[in-house]
Amino acid sequence: MADNRESMASTADLAEAAAACRDLAELEQLRVHWLGKKGMLTVEMQRLGSLDPETRRSVGAGLNRKKTAVQAVLDARRQELQQEHLDRRIRSETVDVTLPGRSGGKGNLHPIRQTLVWIETYFRQMGFEVADGPEIEDDYHNFTALNIPEDHPARAMHDTFYLEGGQVLRTHTSPVQIRYLETHEPPLRMIATGRVYRRDSDLTHTPMFHQVEGLYLDTSASFADLRGLLADFLQSFFGQSDLSVRFRPSYFPFTEPSAEVDVRCVICQGEGCRVCKQTGWLEVLGCGMVHPAVLDGAGVDQERFTGFAFGLGVERLAMLRNGVNDLRLFFENDLRFLRQFS
Ligand SMILES: [Zn+2]
Repeated sequence: MADNRESMASTADLAEAAAACRDLAELEQLRVHWLGKKGMLTVEMQRLGSLDPETRRSVGAGLNRKKTAVQAVLDARRQELQQEHLDRRIRSETVDVTLPGRSGGKGNLHPIRQTLVWIETYFRQMGFEVADGPEIEDDYHNFTALNIPEDHPARAMHDTFYLEGGQVLRTHTSPVQIRYLETHEPPLRMIATGRVYRRDSDLTHTPMFHQVEGLYLDTSASFADLRGLLADFLQSFFGQSDLSVRFRPSYFPFTEPSAEVDVRCVICQGEGCRVCKQTGWLEVLGCGMVHPAVLDGAGVDQERFTGFAFGLGVERLAMLRNGVNDLRLFFENDLRFLRQFS
């Protein structure tokens, strides 16, 4: 009974202890102290078994009342603490509608896409249609129709990705010319832009890159027209109306005669630098008059029509125009790099 009195006395302290609890965790400790498995009331309840029935009844009833009272004090304090917690949260999460808004940030086109858009816009203005074709190509359109038959050495230069069933990942955008010729009659002007693939990877090569291919067929298309168009394109692209452009004889299977086109180095203005390997010139595209074998295969009447074709690498032009010195930067998706093109 002495124990009982002692604990009855400490019941009076409960309200004070509950009020002193600063949060729900502290209140839970208090609950365990009173009502937990080894709590004071629980232990007293367990002792009832050792009392005689008469005493047990009266002490038991007292303990039950006490337990209800304890529970009530704890519940009341829990509600208070929950309300305080809620009030604090509401205060801390208040939205000040008078503050200026925060912008989500505006994205921008990838520099390669920007370059492609610029090139497409230029050639559309020159009366060219922009055509599209499959990236998984058959051998005929990627090679044979472009005057690169089975045993032609140019096939080795392409480092082709071969797929099952004899298909390839297109090694250039030229097959789009062939597909376009299958469904269009000359006179025509078209460019094809898109991804191409080669087994090649180093500082200046990636297995996937972008090309632009152009085709112009007309009754009087000449090398002079080709020269004039490409010179104007390059001067516009680099924003230098006096940019020197030179044509060097070259070889491509699908054009004859063929030429490679250089511009005066846009980095050093021809003085000689690392980018132009001290030559003062930069090779930027390839071109030529469409080879008779290609026109034959496409069923073009060569008595009436002649034409020229050209091709360029988009990454290279984008690097030169923006002063980017590592091709791989375009494909690493580093936002610090990409944001410079917004
Ligand atoms: Zn240079």
